[in-house]
Amino acid sequence: MTVIFKNILNKESLLNIYSRAVAFVKNNRILARVCSLCLIGMMAVGVSVVSVGITLGFKVNYSGSFIATVRNAQVFDAAKSIAVNNIEGSDADSAIETPSFKVTLTVADRLDSAAAVADAIIENTENIVKASALIVNGERVACGEAEELREYLEISRTRFEPEGAESKSEFTDKVELENGYYLKTEISDPDAVKAAVEAIGVKTVAVVTTDTEIAFSKKTVKTAEKLIGYSEVTTAGENGVNRKTESVELINGEEISRTELSNEVVKEPQTEVTTVGTAKTTASAAQRSAERSAGFISPLKRGSFTISAYYGDGRGHKGMDLAANKGTPIYAVANGTVTYAGYDGDYGNSVIIDHGNGLKTRYAHASALCVSKGQTVSQGEVIAYVGCTGYSTGNHLHFEVMVNGNRVNPISYIGLD
Ligand SMILES: [Zn+2]
Repeated sequence: MTVIFKNILNKESLLNIYSRAVAFVKNNRILARVCSLCLIGMMAVGVSVVSVGITLGFKVNYSGSFIATVRNAQVFDAAKSIAVNNIEGSDADSAIETPSFKVTLTVADRLDSAAAVADAIIENTENIVKASALIVNGERVACGEAEELREYLEISRTRFEPEGAESKSEFTDKVELENGYYLKTEISDPDAVKAAVEAIGVKTVAVVTTDTEIAFSKKTVKTAEKLIGYSEVTTAGENGVNRKTESVELINGEEISRTELSNEVVKEPQTEVTTVGTAKTTASAAQRSAERSAGFISPLKRGSFTISAYYGDGRGHKGMDLAANKGTPIYAVANGTVTYAGYDGDYGNSVIIDHGNGLKTRYAHASALCVSKGQTVSQGEVIAYVGCTGYSTGNHLHFEVMVNGNRVNPISYIGLD
C-alpha cells in the first residue's frame, strides 16, 4: 500500500490528489455517499504517508529530462564536482549543462545522494562518453572505444607473425588502457588511433619451417625377361623433402636474428627405375623349338646381312630388320602361295606368302619383286631383292611372321636367336 502511494506522490502532489477527489465526488452526487467513505480512507492513508516522512524537494531537469530529486541545489553542485573529478580532461567543467529545478513533495528517503546525481549527470551529458585512453610508456597517446582499442592492439601486436609459423609477439613499449569518462572532443579519430597503435614497438619470435625439395635420381635396370626395345619406368621417381626449422626474431617486422633449430631430411627421395629389355626373344626353349619346327629358312643368306633391329624395340616394331646391300636376293622361307605382291605404303615393295596352318610371312622395302599374287612358291625361291622402298632409311629387309593374323617375334622361326 505504502509503495503504491509513494509512486503516486512522485508524480503528483498530495494536494492535487485531494482536490481532484473532491471535484469528482461533487460531480457525482449519487456516488457521494459511497465515496465519502473512500475519501475518509484516502485521507487516512495521506496521514500515514506524512508520518513516513513527506518532505519538500527539487526535481532536477537536466538536458531535457528529470534525472534526480535532490534536497536542494547544493546537492547538485556537489554532484557536479564529483562528476568533473571523474571526467578525464581539463575542460570537463564546461561540458556540464546548467539544470533547472522544480519544487516537489517527496519522501525523505527518496532524495538522491550527490554520488547518485553525479552518475546521472555523466550518463545524461551529451558531451561525455565512456572510453579508454591508450597509455604508452606512461603517456596518453590516443583515446577511443575500449573494445576497439583492444582489437587494434591485438592486430598490431601480431601483425609481423609470419603466416603458418608458430609465433610469439609482445610489445616492447609499456602499454596500458585506462577506462573512464572522457569528453567527446578528446576521442581520437580512427586514423589517429591506428597510427598511435602502430607506433608501439613489437618484438616477434617465430619458428619458421622451410621445406626444400630433394630431386630424385634415376637408374636403369636390365632384364632378360623383356625384349630388346622394351623400356618402361617401373618405379616412379619422387622428390624428397628437406626441412629446416629456424627461430627468427623480428623487431617491428625487421629480422634481427635467425637461429637454426633443426635441418633434416623428412622424406627420402625415391629413385626412378627404368627397366629395359635385353632379350632377343622371350620365347621359352620349348616355344623356340616349336617355332623352329615350322621349318623356315633364313630369308637372306647367312653372312649377307646384319641384324639392324629386333622385334619389339619400343617403336612398336613388329618385325626384324636385316640390313644388306641393295639387290641381295630375298628367299621364300617356306613353300606357300603369294597372297600379296605390290607397293604397300610404309612397307614399300612387299610380298606376303601364306604357308598354311595360319602361318604367313611378309618381306618389305624390296627394290624389286619377282613374284605376283596367286603364285605358288617353293622354299628358297628368290621372291624379291633388298632395297629401301616405303618407310625406310637404308637398304634392309623388314621381315614379319604372322600367326593367325598376329605378328610375332620372328627370331626363333628363322634361327637367329
Ligand atoms: Zn623393320
